Amino acid sequence: MSDFTIYNTLSREKEKFVPLHPPFAGIYVCGPTVYGDAHLGHARPAITFDLLFRYLRHLGYKVRYVRNITDVGHLENDADAGNDKIAKKALLEQIEPMEVVQRYTDNYHRNMDQLNVLMPSIEPRASGHIPEQIEMVATILEAGYAYISNGSVYFDVEKYHQSNPYGQLSGRVLEDLLATTRELEGQQEKRNPFDFALWKQAEPEHIMRWKSPWSEGFPGWHLECSAMSRKYLGDEFDIHGGGMDLLFPHHECEIAQSKIATGKDSVRYWMHNNLITINGQKMGKSLGNSIILDDMFSGNHPLLEQAYDPMTIRFFILQAHYRSTLDFSNEALQASEKGFARLMKALSILEKLPRSPQTTIDIDGWETRCHDALNDDLNTPVMISHLFDMVRQINLINDGKEQVTDTDIARLGLKLSAFIFDILGLRDNSIADSGSTVLPDVIRLLLDIRQEAKKNKDFTLSDRIRNELGNIGIKVKDGKDGAEWEMG
Ligand code: ZN
Repeated sequence: MSDFTIYNTLSREKEKFVPLHPPFAGIYVCGPTVYGDAHLGHARPAITFDLLFRYLRHLGYKVRYVRNITDVGHLENDADAGNDKIAKKALLEQIEPMEVVQRYTDNYHRNMDQLNVLMPSIEPRASGHIPEQIEMVATILEAGYAYISNGSVYFDVEKYHQSNPYGQLSGRVLEDLLATTRELEGQQEKRNPFDFALWKQAEPEHIMRWKSPWSEGFPGWHLECSAMSRKYLGDEFDIHGGGMDLLFPHHECEIAQSKIATGKDSVRYWMHNNLITINGQKMGKSLGNSIILDDMFSGNHPLLEQAYDPMTIRFFILQAHYRSTLDFSNEALQASEKGFARLMKALSILEKLPRSPQTTIDIDGWETRCHDALNDDLNTPVMISHLFDMVRQINLINDGKEQVTDTDIARLGLKLSAFIFDILGLRDNSIADSGSTVLPDVIRLLLDIRQEAKKNKDFTLSDRIRNELGNIGIKVKDGKDGAEWEMG
């Protein structure tokens, strides 16, 4: 279909993307744990894999994109006693754990929508897949690669390592792990400190608990992804993604569990996005620099000089390659804001360019270069530099120094909007508040027609107008003085 190459974290090489069952492509990405507001750290994997999702669809694949919601809030590590993060938050706020989950899932969805991140094809929740997880534990136990200890079940890493390489993805050597893993309190249940829990018996005060053959408890941290990717994408699937912070132990454990449960290497391509730093510092709650997305968008944070539009954030993230580190600073964000405005301005003058009998710029060559960059492991910084080359060409045409035909303007407009809006997933938020009154006038007209339809009890028409507007990102709100609208 194309020569799309992906850097595979496992082989440490760029490989041509060949899906198992073309034209289908399956992606699994580790989603958020929902016990707090979505922050900058959530934005990067979401946008990286949204780009992958969009690009594979653009290439013609039928993509099934599964991104989970971790709503069984996992413990910091197997030795943590007491409640998980979600239950802790529930106790603190005196609400049900599932209310915590709902609140922060809604918050995550709202922020992702602002960043123009598409909803995945399937968004399974860990708490909705307890039977599948219990079944997987039972299979691994039966195969002899896990043991029961005090009502909990642990994966036997040493035994697995005798016939399968453990640590290959993250480049860790088991012998070194053995030497460096601290003996943590509560780990006496394990044969080896690097064994990991498949099932944990719940302490009496633990709220989120389920019945199992071994104890009343909850699944281990890594199990949900193995169980849910298998359920929705099969024993073997194309791409598994996530942040680099999940390489070890999470993904390493997933590989081991899935291998024993299915007898197969479940993932063809492992993709990891690099992490975000703020003013050169690692981001973290304890460092006081973990900025939530709502604050980024409002500017309400001591580290921020101003509010940043979600599209500035998205554009900024895409201006770096997903495998590079990305440092958030006001200076860098303001540069992105200007760059994005320049891109949008070029688009807005495209329509008004003077038409010539011939075209003197190379549109096809430019398009190929844009595709080549994306095909090279989603090299968005290079692709965006090509977009700016075209911005310069457009300005030259506008100044009468280059020429373009009427047909080529239309062709170029389509290609630019495919790259900028469909693939990079950017959105022109300025339409609603730009000098142009055409769009607001048209929307007003549609709302008037809708008002009339409601008066005539033609709710099919009135709902259709609201829904169709919603589909193109225009939200209609009914108030007592008639309907109002805003760009989603
Ligand atoms: Zn995962």
